[in-house]
Amino acid sequence: MNERIYLSPPHIGGKERDLILDALDSNWIAPLGPQVDLFEKEMSQYLGIGHGCALASGTAALHLSLVISGIKRNDIVLCPSLTFAASANSILYQNAIPVFIDVDIDTWTVDLNLLEKAIKKFSPRAFIAVDIYGQPSKYDAIIDLCEMNNVIVIEDAAESLGSKYKGIKCGAFGQMGVLSFNGNKIITTSGGGMLVSDDKKKIDKARFLSTQAREQSIHYEHKALGYNYRMSNILAALGRAQLEKIERRVKSRREIFIRYYDSLSDIDGIEFMRETEFGKSNRWLTTLTIDPSKIKASNVDIVEVLEKENIEARPVWKPMHLQKLYDSCEYISTNDDISKRLFETGICLPSGSSLSHGQQEKIIEIIISILNLKV
Ligand SMILES: *Cc1c(COP(=O)(O)O)cnc(C)c1O
Repeated sequence: MNERIYLSPPHIGGKERDLILDALDSNWIAPLGPQVDLFEKEMSQYLGIGHGCALASGTAALHLSLVISGIKRNDIVLCPSLTFAASANSILYQNAIPVFIDVDIDTWTVDLNLLEKAIKKFSPRAFIAVDIYGQPSKYDAIIDLCEMNNVIVIEDAAESLGSKYKGIKCGAFGQMGVLSFNGNKIITTSGGGMLVSDDKKKIDKARFLSTQAREQSIHYEHKALGYNYRMSNILAALGRAQLEKIERRVKSRREIFIRYYDSLSDIDGIEFMRETEFGKSNRWLTTLTIDPSKIKASNVDIVEVLEKENIEARPVWKPMHLQKLYDSCEYISTNDDISKRLFETGICLPSGSSLSHGQQEKIIEIIISILNLKV
């Protein structure tokens, strides 16, 4: 069997090893330590955001963003339906009520008309904007609309580190931004995340809550409900080495996208996720849709054939409104359910920054052969 090609595997270099060994040699293993402080500082500088709190996961960052926003039982929180479950799960952690919104076909991010409709109808406390597959959401309009209606905006930038909206890096929009360094993301600390904000008070609060909300005292004194969500010093060392290479990683992923695009975009019935004039995507994953009226093979057919060749591809995220966990939730859409259509026709191709030209050519050849056989 050929060596497996993964969708988005970790891409680790020599510097990672050195920094982890430094952390080990200094005996700063956990909790916290100088690597965590430096990682936060370097990430904030890279993003051009005031402050960051390194955490155990992006999910922990999402959860804390809602705790810090004061989201509580029965509050309504809006979220695009087309996302990874973690975006929505954080709402349930607070016993709040998610309301899902459909996306638009041009950007795959939240549909602004539907967002406005949902705000009018539900008077939500917050909106989690998701930069899906690296595509920045339409922030000018989102911030205007949400500010006017007193809705807190949280940016789920777990997939969009290195992307830009009108020249500003993703993670910087809304009251707080959420980053993920899970193994499949553009840079990784194995597992990890960060909450970032220009509001120092919010990030101080995140530090406090993520380390068990311990009051300053010689004994263990607690007034607030805390969590064990902090990132360890070892993993922050890994993150620092990864962050140094972020621009190269974005470049690689964008080149991978272009190679797929150049080889497949002429095929009638294949459409790639577009880039907008206001945004620059990190192209975390190359995604495309297959029009069933023009091409006989489905997205699942392609995933299955690639799997037989030991290549990992995936359908686009299954939207939240189609998940059993969320089937009692409200969903704001039109008759043309775009999230559902993207799930039924969309596919994510292997896009890791370590993917070789040879591997990519093989993937492209297989896809072309499937389409020729089935058309
Ligand atoms: C990966 C991801 C998360 C969660 O991050 P973890 O670090 O895996 O907890 C949240 N939202 C989106 C959109 C993601 O892709």
